Amino acid sequence: MEASIEKRALYVVATPLGNLEDITHRALRVLAGVDLVAAEDTRRSRRLLRHYGIQTPCLAFHEHNEARQALRLLRRIQEGAAVALVSDAGTPLISDPGLGLVRRVQEAGCRVIPIPGPSALTAALSAAGMPCERFAFEGFLPAKGAARRRRLEALRDEPRTLVFYEAPHRILDLLELLCEVLGEEREAALARELTKAFETIHRDRLGRLAAWVAADARQQKGEFVVVVAGERRTSEQQAGALKGVGGEAEAVLAILLERLTLKEAVSMAARLTGERRNQLYAQAVRLQRKAGGSGTPDAECDAEGKGMREA
Ligand code: SAM
Repeated sequence: MEASIEKRALYVVATPLGNLEDITHRALRVLAGVDLVAAEDTRRSRRLLRHYGIQTPCLAFHEHNEARQALRLLRRIQEGAAVALVSDAGTPLISDPGLGLVRRVQEAGCRVIPIPGPSALTAALSAAGMPCERFAFEGFLPAKGAARRRRLEALRDEPRTLVFYEAPHRILDLLELLCEVLGEEREAALARELTKAFETIHRDRLGRLAAWVAADARQQKGEFVVVVAGERRTSEQQAGALKGVGGEAEAVLAILLERLTLKEAVSMAARLTGERRNQLYAQAVRLQRKAGGSGTPDAECDAEGKGMREA
């Protein structure tokens, strides 16, 4: 391990999520040795530095001044300074500012040095009891509206474990939306207030998890990570499900396709039958091919109808 602090470098330093003991020896040495700490929340970072008797000056670096401060920090680094970037909590750049700065520093030919440590993402995964050989970190979904649901719908068949961050005032909404889109039977874990006094990690089916949080206002407070099991059906089962859009749904589709465009027919059939749009879309393409039509996917949709808009 290097003993001294490298000049003309940006250190990206992970800091505690809540428990101040969760910081590495190396992080403390770097924070004490750099010329400047660029901090998302200077008050919070000063508290951490004070706790460890570190007096390095702090400068505010947050999403509202990121572009301007990045130029300023880059100049300092090019002039020979060592700068540490820290976020409010956890690892910078993980749903936090800093990407522009890291890229500028790299492009200027200076070193960017990671100082690894806590992140709510890895802390939650490590204790959620969910598979984590492969996972997809989704961070925050869009705050509201159709975009929020659309993002989740695009993840419905994702086989990897899904990880979401969420704010307390939207946690119930997120759990309810997860139930609607992924189904109440999917397994999930809620990791709340990790490393803090009211840390809670609770694993259950999505439906029961949402009901548990709804019934207890205390479980709606604090910071949250939601870990959701990936789609477990095998590709054969998924193909079977595609074929399963037979019977009534197929008959409805066939009638609608006589009068409507493929896209309109799929939208209408989804509303009438409750079947999934991408499955109906695949079936509609098959029906058109069978009937001697082009069966060419609509320009706005991919082969599985993933581009289908909400009706
Ligand atoms: N960079 C941070 C990291 O490495 O985890 C994440 C920053 S992001 C702006 C803040 C979100 O992280 C919170 O809204 C919450 O979803 C999650 N988070 C942060 N601290 C947490 C904690 N102690 N327990 C649970 N989730 C936490």
